[in-house]
Amino acid sequence: MIEWKTIDTVLFDMDGTVLDLHFDNYFWEDFVPAHYGKRHGLSATEASTVLRQRYESVKGTLDWYCIDFWSQTLAMDISRLKEDIRHKISVRPHALDFVKQLRLSGKRVMLVTNAHPGSLELKMRHTGIAPHFDHTISSHTLKLAKENEGFWSALRQQHDYDPQRTLLIDDSLPVLRRAREEGIRHLLAIRQPDSQRAPLHPEEFTQVEHFTDIMKGLDDRQL
Ligand SMILES: [Mg+2]
Repeated sequence: MIEWKTIDTVLFDMDGTVLDLHFDNYFWEDFVPAHYGKRHGLSATEASTVLRQRYESVKGTLDWYCIDFWSQTLAMDISRLKEDIRHKISVRPHALDFVKQLRLSGKRVMLVTNAHPGSLELKMRHTGIAPHFDHTISSHTLKLAKENEGFWSALRQQHDYDPQRTLLIDDSLPVLRRAREEGIRHLLAIRQPDSQRAPLHPEEFTQVEHFTDIMKGLDDRQL
């Protein structure tokens, strides 16, 4: 149970937190390898092996999340391929109700994502959820990924928030760890970021299973 009166800002991750991570997992692990394999005369398994090595080499950096980087590296139109399967983008259960309730309770709510501005735009256009947030921010505009040193203080310079009175909800362990190091006090992980995959093992952060579980106590406007 969260003590809501001790929190005035809630930062939401996008993929795997507000949105189902299935879109991204399917895109990078099935759809892109299928196209890459077709182009280079490789089987699906061979293409996956090649691509997995490439993915691993930039994980945790901004390039990993960059449409331009992958379009260039793989010589494929990544934006167009994402558009082709945009029907697979979906909002996680109760995420929007939770965001709406937070704002009715007087909290400031921001979406802070490692997604490239182009991916953020596609997902906001497809789901229509952007107006429910006070701000939607791509980490690319700060030139750092959320798991990189200094990200959370850089974000504070642009969107002043009190780390002691802020809650971050994110499905990425490296991101949560970095936020903790940079002083964000309230941190929650997501139990099952991809609806088509098994839940994650609990680590040092409390996991949210259903947003409805933590909405209790939010009804009263507490400023
Ligand atoms: Mg995420």
